[in-house]
Amino acid sequence: MFKFFKKKRDKTVIKSEIIVSNFNITVFKKDIKNLHLKVLPPDGKVRVSAPKRMDDRSVRFFITSKLPWIEKHVNRFKEQPRETPREYVAGESHYFKGQRYLLNVIEYGGKPYIAINNKKYIDLYVKRDADLEKKKKVFLLWQREELTKELSGIFIKWQEIMGVSAKEWRIKQMKTKWGTCNTSAKRIWINLELVKKPVYCIEYIVVHELAHLIEKNHSKRFTAVMDKFIPQWRSYKKELNGSFLNIA
Ligand SMILES: [Zn+2]
Repeated sequence: MFKFFKKKRDKTVIKSEIIVSNFNITVFKKDIKNLHLKVLPPDGKVRVSAPKRMDDRSVRFFITSKLPWIEKHVNRFKEQPRETPREYVAGESHYFKGQRYLLNVIEYGGKPYIAINNKKYIDLYVKRDADLEKKKKVFLLWQREELTKELSGIFIKWQEIMGVSAKEWRIKQMKTKWGTCNTSAKRIWINLELVKKPVYCIEYIVVHELAHLIEKNHSKRFTAVMDKFIPQWRSYKKELNGSFLNIA
């Protein structure tokens, strides 16, 4: 029964748009106590919810104070190439070593395989009844073989230059990291996803992980090692950071 005495909530919402420093921000004024700020996927729209009695000047002041945060998050959405699940159908875009290719699906009775065609197409040869799972399997296997070839050369080159050697390196699919290094076991894992990136980015990750064999932590000494061997590493890091994975 106490419900009856409760103050009735004002459910009306007033929507408006304000522009602060090139950002088009949607403001919702409603019956709430605190300000909320959100940058929304997939394209980084900025939304603010504000208490109804708050005037526009105060809202604008709040947004201005959060501009660095807004900028950072909006940019992450912008840099992120939209990763929709692949269907492995003809005409679909696939990135390989930093280049965009279009997929051709070609019926083929023999053992499935993949070939790069004319620097523009990835030709996927599969049986007529190959379903999505089958095509994906063939594709991931090909990516793994290609990355293995690339990494073999990169590891030989950089282990010699840096004077360190990993006991073992392997490729796996990882959700949050481009690479990891277990320094006591001297084992390095490289994310399969890297096969989509330019070779200099693949090299940068290998050098980073190998640098952990010289210096375990991300210390000043580690930075000095990176500066010595790959002075442009900061721009590669920036390029990879647009993709939401971390460098560990
Ligand atoms: Zn690291």
